[in-house]
Amino acid sequence: MKILFLGTGLMGAPMVEKLLAARFDVTVYNRTKSKTKKIIDKGAKRAADLLDAVNDSDVVISMLSDYPAFNELMDDNCLSALNGKTLIQMSTISPEESLLLLETVEDIGGRYIEAPVLGSLPQIESGKLIVMVGGSEELFNKYQKIFSSFGEKIYHMGEVGQATAAKLALNQLIASLTIAFSMSLGYILNKKVDIDKFMNILRSSALYASTFDKKLENMLNRDYGNPNFPVKHLLKDVRLIVREFGANAINISPLIGIEEV
Ligand code: NAP
Repeated sequence: MKILFLGTGLMGAPMVEKLLAARFDVTVYNRTKSKTKKIIDKGAKRAADLLDAVNDSDVVISMLSDYPAFNELMDDNCLSALNGKTLIQMSTISPEESLLLLETVEDIGGRYIEAPVLGSLPQIESGKLIVMVGGSEELFNKYQKIFSSFGEKIYHMGEVGQATAAKLALNQLIASLTIAFSMSLGYILNKKVDIDKFMNILRSSALYASTFDKKLENMLNRDYGNPNFPVKHLLKDVRLIVREFGANAINISPLIGIEEV
């Protein structure tokens, strides 16, 4: 099975490493060519030309920033070349966008499956990325080995649109918990309350979430350099969530506040 992997960014490059470790034949394409060097040194092939690379593949995996990035990269010729191939879409996009991709790819004569992930660089490195799959049972089974190279927890969520919905619901929690914790921490710092005592109380209560401790030191040091999950992507997700939740009659006022922060 020849895999063409689109997007060797923060997530894409280490995911390709996992595919190589599972002995897949992987060709990589990235808009900024220099970002593929490290992964090519590790055994991936470089796609000199995107159209040729799509033509030469069986499966195309997309781990680009978002839906507009996919549309910008894949012109009509590249899309047509998906005829007879499968597109596995792993970026965080909305169910609506994923359903549009399903329609586009199937119209061309290709197959489509969505597989967004929960977890970041440390989870890829430790093989603990969680993969949520939306699409037919047949495709889910066919590409199990690809999904399992990223982690042990692979969930078939149902049809296309259901895995992306679950992913947005989880990222809503990432955004809300992070903002909620940073607000309380900011207040505690202003009031000069003992942080250790505050954290001990929080840790022993039902209010605690382990993400608080993951973020505590960086927040205290105001160290926001080298993030695993860049704020630009969280903001992209919050905007998708506002649109999606709003369309599902969920009160989105708290999310508007998060978008502004
Ligand atoms: P990233 O490091 O910013 O990489 C984004 C990739 O998209 C790069 O390869 C970039 O190419 C490419 N790209 C962006 N705009 C493009 C365009 N217009 N045309 C062609 N290529 C374009 O992002 P990431 O952290 O790997 O995240 C990728 C996806 O996974 C996002 O949907 C994100 O929300 C999701 N995700 C991220 C994490 C995380 O912890 N980071 C966790 C789960 C899910 P260049 O190198 O040329 O810019």
